[in-house]
Parts: sequence; structure tokens; C-alpha cells
Amino acid sequence: MAEATQAPVVEEVKNCPACKKPLKKARRFYRNGAYYCNNNCFKKVQAQVKAEAAEAAQDAQAAQAAEAAKVAEKSEEKPQA
Ligand SMILES: [Zn+2]
Repeated sequence: MAEATQAPVVEEVKNCPACKKPLKKARRFYRNGAYYCNNNCFKKVQAQVKAEAAEAAQDAQAAQAAEAAKVAEKSEEKPQA
């Protein structure tokens, strides 16, 4: 993860998560618990988050399906009495 290796963010002036520009207090744009420089950057990040969430959901579903298949396989091989 390249984003994690950034210098610690100063409390007052944060960077826009979309374009990484520092946000000035008067100009920042607050949406969903985070600050952006404008609606465009907000939408950009939202699209990214959505895509990541969809990917994660797909992964989780695939893992669940694989797990379900395993369980189904196991329950079929009943021990012989
Ligand atoms: Zn921005």
C-alpha cells in the first residue's frame, strides 16, 4: 500500500483524498465524514470506494460459496454405520 507510507497529516490542513491537494479551511467540502476540495473529488472517491466495496463483496461471496461447497461435500460423505 503506497498510501500508507505518507508523512503524518497535520490536524488542521488535511489533504483531499481524491487529488491529494491540501485543503484550506474555507474551501473544503464536507461529505460523508471526510473533506474534499469539491464535489468532483468527492464523487471520484465515492466511485473508487464503490468499486472497492463491490470487489470485496464479490470476494466474500466467492469465499462463502467455496465454503458452502466444502460443507455440502462433507455432509454428503456420512460415516458408514
Ligand atoms: Zn480534491
